[in-house]
Amino acid sequence: MTSGANAKRRLTILGSTGSIGTNTLDVIDQLGGRDRFEIAALTGNGNIDLLAAQAKAVGAELAVTADEGQYENLKSALSGTNIEVAAGRSGLIEAADRDAGWVMAAIVGTAGLAPTLAAARRGADIALANKECLVSAGDLFVSAVAKGGGRLIPVDSEHSAIFQALEDDQRHAVERIVLTASGGPFRTWTREQMAGVTAEIARAHPNWSMGLKISIGSASMFNKALEMIEAKHLFDARPEQIEVVVHPQSIIHSMVGYSDGSVLAQLGCPDMRTAIGYALTYPTRTKLNVDRLDFARIARLDFEAPDEVRFPALRLARTAMRRGGLQGAIMNAAEEIAFHAFVAGRIGFLDMADIAETVMERMTDITPALSMDDVYAADDEARIRAAQAVSATEKAA
Ligand code: NDP
Repeated sequence: MTSGANAKRRLTILGSTGSIGTNTLDVIDQLGGRDRFEIAALTGNGNIDLLAAQAKAVGAELAVTADEGQYENLKSALSGTNIEVAAGRSGLIEAADRDAGWVMAAIVGTAGLAPTLAAARRGADIALANKECLVSAGDLFVSAVAKGGGRLIPVDSEHSAIFQALEDDQRHAVERIVLTASGGPFRTWTREQMAGVTAEIARAHPNWSMGLKISIGSASMFNKALEMIEAKHLFDARPEQIEVVVHPQSIIHSMVGYSDGSVLAQLGCPDMRTAIGYALTYPTRTKLNVDRLDFARIARLDFEAPDEVRFPALRLARTAMRRGGLQGAIMNAAEEIAFHAFVAGRIGFLDMADIAETVMERMTDITPALSMDDVYAADDEARIRAAQAVSATEKAA
């Protein structure tokens, strides 16, 4: 880092080419860009043109593609620049290990776990968008951050809202954490209607513009299921303290209920840049060019109880939280396999939850995770079992 009063903050973005990654670069640009920040590393996977364009635009030191097969393409896209290039899992770790004080963790899926953990261990502040770090490795991840000495700042809009509504010296008075859910595109649909939907239909979220996995996860409410487990670890909550309420307008991003009956909420337009900006400038707030709420135009805010029969993912999250141990890792890995099979057209929309449940019921061991090897072993086994369940579902169809 440049020394002195005008020191620039050094940042790394893991997953810069995704929806959160591009929004993060937009926020960085709004807050002064290269005048205020140095980008240590950017990472992507398949979108090499965008990764190279981003790296050039911000003058990144290092650009990494997770896909080793794309190394030469990235190298040639960045030829003639001073930007270093790396690829594969080791490249992601190299990016995470660069001395940036703030790291945006926005790789989708379990692939984000190892690099985010590496950044946490060396003491970087982690702006956490990737849910899998907490869902799969909750206690280990939280303790890695604590040992490293950095801060863990949630970026998921719900968890950012809770983080903002939590009064640090009043934690003892927290009764409940209320996660809001838009209900997704199938909020009012029957199971029969949902049975035949394609990924193209399922990805059309009514309020938020997001990556493919989280969009489909919003439609099945698996995303909310992951968020429940995420909240448990982030806020050290008991499972019974975590509630979900469907709020179709996505204006209230989540709430904290206290023992005096007060409920504190954070509201805003559905735009991830608010949560990203907060994570970047925490504990201060800064001016962002995002839409402001117009309450008269919104006119009303609606709430509904979630339906765990039509959306069984929520029930599975409660099972995973109640059982503890490696159940989060198992649920998450099985869901990831089922998600890919759904997107590939191999299984139906409703099969995703059935497959996750089948795998969870076959792996009921609730031994606590003592090391990341335990997490990876449970993850591997759950993926194998989920792949078997996908094949069985295909054959039965
Ligand atoms: P996207 O799919 O838009 O982007 C994912 C990023 O991860 C891209 O940079 C992608 O690279 C990269 N990537 C994909 N596969 C791999 C891999 N195997 N190894 C390393 N990198 C990989 O996702 P989002 O930005 O929507 O979401 C990112 C994370 O943030 C997710 O965990 C999501 O749940 C969470 N989140 C997202 C929100 C949103 O509004 N989008 C809100 C809250 C949380 P490339 O594009 O080059 O292939």
